[in-house]
Amino acid sequence: MQDTVKAWLENGTIDVFLGYKKVDNHPLPHCFTKARLEELEDLVVSPDRYPLEKIATHMTTAKPEVKIGMLARDCTQRALNVLYIWNQLDPEKIQTLNVNCCPSPLKEKADCSYLRPATVGDYKKEKGVNNAALLEQLSEYGQEERLGRWMYEFQKCIKCYGCRNICPVCFCKECSLEHEDLIKTGALPPEIPVFHLIRAVHMAGRCIDCGLCEEACPMDIPLRLLYRKVNDIVAQVFDYKTGTSASQSPFNILGDSVTLEPKPIQLTGTDS
Ligand code: SF4
Ligand code: SF4
Repeated sequence: MQDTVKAWLENGTIDVFLGYKKVDNHPLPHCFTKARLEELEDLVVSPDRYPLEKIATHMTTAKPEVKIGMLARDCTQRALNVLYIWNQLDPEKIQTLNVNCCPSPLKEKADCSYLRPATVGDYKKEKGVNNAALLEQLSEYGQEERLGRWMYEFQKCIKCYGCRNICPVCFCKECSLEHEDLIKTGALPPEIPVFHLIRAVHMAGRCIDCGLCEEACPMDIPLRLLYRKVNDIVAQVFDYKTGTSASQSPFNILGDSVTLEPKPIQLTGTDS
């Protein structure tokens, strides 16, 4: 890994490399450069996850010509695909060094909706929110019960913006969640369910189910469940599986060659 990054930096394939550096035995996100190649000795694969692709988006905004290399798990690749489609990053300027998902908290909990069952193996869902099961269980509850459940979850929110700030595919320059006309400044909890529904709508066709928002939420709100439901609807209507391709745009359905014929959503009377 170190040799590859060193070669990329030396031969100009990349200008910087985003990875993890061990500091006091703790892996922290770090930007490796040609000027300090000796730091590559401390380059590690971290079991903790940070949205390196979000750092790349910020870097590119400040310096569009920079060529960036980065460690990439499966969820990083999905986020990159979304960022390419939304023109936030240029695939020509990104070089990934792919690493296995494991170890990661999601894999330990078998809680990744993109992992095939064979990959998941015998990992048990012993802790954390079993989001996949909950999504399936949603239809067992009536609309009123589900609304009650979400209002209970939402009223725990302390509007810390951790979910938005950690999200690799939250990239708007002006955020609706800080717009005075939509979200009252200083109101705690933020007006519910508006705050959370605004974010959920923005995540439609964008959320790649990395789970970082839920890990960051200090109030343990099952945010992934909400965004999974939203993306389940996107998949049904637009045949679009977020993040799985850098070429399948969610907007293709509006292209000249494609007739806009959204598929009907399977409404069961209890569907949200
Ligand atoms: S799971 Fe959360 S942090 Fe990850 S892409 Fe979706 S909304 Fe963003
Ligand atoms: S991280 Fe949790 S508590 Fe903070 S704004 Fe998001 S939902 Fe609310």
